[in-house]
Amino acid sequence: MKRVSIVVPCYNECETVEIFYNEVIKYLTDDNIDYKIIFVNDGSKDNTIDIIKGLAEKDNRVLYVSFSRNFGKEAAMYAGLEAAKTIKSDAMINMDVDLQDPPYLIPELIKYHDEGYNLIITRHKNRNGEGFLKKMFSLAFYKVYAFVTKDKGLSQGARDYALLDKKVIDAFLQIRDFERFTKGIYNFVGFKTKIVEFEYQPRVAGKTKWNFKKLFHYGVMGMREFSRFYEYIPKIFAWLFTLLLLFDTGWGIYQTVANGAPFEYRRLIFDLAMVMIFITLFYICRLIYDNRRQLQNRPIYLCEESNIEKED
Ligand code: UDP
Ligand code: MG
Repeated sequence: MKRVSIVVPCYNECETVEIFYNEVIKYLTDDNIDYKIIFVNDGSKDNTIDIIKGLAEKDNRVLYVSFSRNFGKEAAMYAGLEAAKTIKSDAMINMDVDLQDPPYLIPELIKYHDEGYNLIITRHKNRNGEGFLKKMFSLAFYKVYAFVTKDKGLSQGARDYALLDKKVIDAFLQIRDFERFTKGIYNFVGFKTKIVEFEYQPRVAGKTKWNFKKLFHYGVMGMREFSRFYEYIPKIFAWLFTLLLLFDTGWGIYQTVANGAPFEYRRLIFDLAMVMIFITLFYICRLIYDNRRQLQNRPIYLCEESNIEKED
C-alpha cells in the first residue's frame, strides 16, 4: 500500500488546526493509500500543540513534531521531510494549515504521482483576492526572481504546496542550506515535474504570520541563494567605470597628440589604478560567491536513476 504523508507547518494556529484537519480528512478516503498527517509545531506560543495532541489521540494517522522554539516555516518543512522519510513514505505533500492550499487538489496530486511524476508543484492562476500592494510586490518579485535565477517555474505565484515522491524527498534532504528557499529548491532538484494551477484562496481563520518586512527579506534571500545576484551588481559597475576611465585616458592622450596639451601622467595613473581596483573588486566578489557555493555543500548532481545497487 502506498504511504503518503501530509506535512503541515503550524505557528500559532490554534484557530485553524482543527478546521484544517476536518477539511483534509474528507479527501483522504482512498483505501489504497495509507495517509499520515504530520503536523510540525514551529514553537507556537498558543495552545496549537495541545490541539494537535488531541487530534493524535483520536486518530492514529495524526503524527507530530514539535520544535523547542520558532525556527520558521522552512525549518518546519525540513523536519517534515525527515519525518516522512523516517516513516518510509512513498510521497509527501507540503501544505499550509490555513486552507490557502486547497485539500480538494490532493486526489489530483496523487493522480499525477500515479502517472509517474516525481514532483508536482502548485501555483496560483491569478492573484485575485489579494490586497493591491501585496499583489504588486509579488508580481514584481516573481518577475525579478525569474530574470536573475532563470527559474521560469516560479514566474507566477508558486506555492510551497507540492507533492514530492521518494526520490525528490531524498534530493531535498541532501540540500542542507541553512537559509532555505523551498520554491527555489523545487527548480534546483529537477526530476519529472508537473505544475498544477488553482485559484487564490483566502485564509480560513487567524492571521498571516508574514509581515511585509519578513516577506521582503525572504524574497531577497531566495534570489541570493539561487542566483549570482550580488555578483552582478559590482560586475556591472566594474565594467561601466572601467569603460569610462579608459575613455578618460584616451581623451587625455588625444589632447596631448592633437592639441599639444601637456601629458597628464597623474590622470593616466589614477585612471589605470581605478580600473585595477574595479577589476580586483569584481574578482573578490566572484571568489566570495564561489567559496560560498562550496560551503553550502549542495550536491554537485542528483541522480534520478541508476542500475548500480548500493550495498547496505
Ligand atoms: N508558519 C510556520 N512558521 C512560521 C510562520 C508560518 O510554520 O514562522 C506556517 C503557518 O502556520 C502556516 C504556513 O506556515 O501553516 C503559512 O503561513 P501564513 O499563512 O502565515 O503565510 P501566508 O500564507 O500569509 O504567506
Ligand atoms: Mg497563509
